Amino acid sequence: MSKILIRGAKVLGGEPQDVLIDGSLIEAVGTGLSDEGAEVVEADGKVLLPGLVDLHTHLREPGREDSETVLTGTRAAASGGYTAVFAMANTFPVADTAGVVEQVYRLGQEHGYCDVQPIGAVTVGLEGKKLAELGAMHESAASVTVFSDDGKCVDDAVIMRRALEYVKAFGGVVAQHAQEPRLTEGAQMNEGIVSAELGLGGWPAVAEESIIARDVLLAEHVGSRVHICHLSTAGSVEIVRWAKSRGIDVTAEVTPHHLLLTDELVRSYNPVYKVNPPLRTERDVLALREALADGTIDIVATDHAPHPHEDKDCEWAAAAMGMVGLETALSVVQETMVDTGLLTWAGVAERMSFKPAEIGRATGHGRPVSAGEPANLTLVDTEYRGSVDPEGFASRSRNTPYEGRELPGRVTHTWLRGKATLVDGKLT
Ligand SMILES: [Zn+2]
Repeated sequence: MSKILIRGAKVLGGEPQDVLIDGSLIEAVGTGLSDEGAEVVEADGKVLLPGLVDLHTHLREPGREDSETVLTGTRAAASGGYTAVFAMANTFPVADTAGVVEQVYRLGQEHGYCDVQPIGAVTVGLEGKKLAELGAMHESAASVTVFSDDGKCVDDAVIMRRALEYVKAFGGVVAQHAQEPRLTEGAQMNEGIVSAELGLGGWPAVAEESIIARDVLLAEHVGSRVHICHLSTAGSVEIVRWAKSRGIDVTAEVTPHHLLLTDELVRSYNPVYKVNPPLRTERDVLALREALADGTIDIVATDHAPHPHEDKDCEWAAAAMGMVGLETALSVVQETMVDTGLLTWAGVAERMSFKPAEIGRATGHGRPVSAGEPANLTLVDTEYRGSVDPEGFASRSRNTPYEGRELPGRVTHTWLRGKATLVDGKLT
């Protein structure tokens, strides 16, 4: 592999510097670096970040290749500036054995757009009844460290306790989709003023908050590590803040859509806004932004949830829940967190690369932009503004809530271990 000189990039938003890549590694970072023998990428004014890491992606393969595959999902990831994604276990078959997680891991390696780290199911078939083979998945070629029944909540407290005990032995983590099932039976949207006016089944905040409260206490009791998926309410923030103040080993994520959109949008009855957990209120959105800024919420994770047209283009009650997110995540974070003054680009790097890599133990990712480190990098034109056109997505699905919406920022280049996966906004 040859040398690449990225010239004049604002590394993590700082002063312009040159970054020289040699093979798979960063060789030097500084000013006035020689471009001899190197391909030059003029990055004047652009921001250079460590390759983004998504702890929560649904790649759908095996089983739902009509909505996404490992290939199309990792191409979408590279387009969005990601160099590693964690693939959720709710596939068909479920990723609850060493065989399935190894298959997903290998597909990621073969395609080469982005590293794929499979997440293992906590329970067999995501049924919540019997622990899956957590140890065998950890010891497999995929070396799974994150376990989740995402899409479903591990609602049985004894199973949750056992899972936390089990993963503790090898430093793993259980990622909980916090949704008390009985409190959300028939729920269609956030429970509140809008749901009452529309007559749609409400999804109360307490259904999320009660599970988070229980699980941080279980994590404390067991002395293990728990991660909370897609926090969506102001109350959840308060519980996590309290847990951290007690020294409980808890981390939490928020999705881009929960940082921007509210349940008022459901008045349109457009199923593109139907998502789990549901869009909440303005008050929740503001609390989530503040919590992401002050570190109570550790990371941004996309919950990229592709669905084919026929599963979304139907009446509200029948529509599938979820939104695609890999290709718009950074723009939404710029809009809600950077352009509002809540976060610097260094803060974005922390929450979208360093910290998610650390939580998921993604080796070689979330590393500083400095000499000797793997060249996993993303270059962003932060001055760009444009409206979102789903037709241009690399994802196989188009269920974005941002169609036609103007958002700032555009990823122009992504490098995975020195190999360009995205050049001038085009996949290689
Ligand atoms: Zn979920």
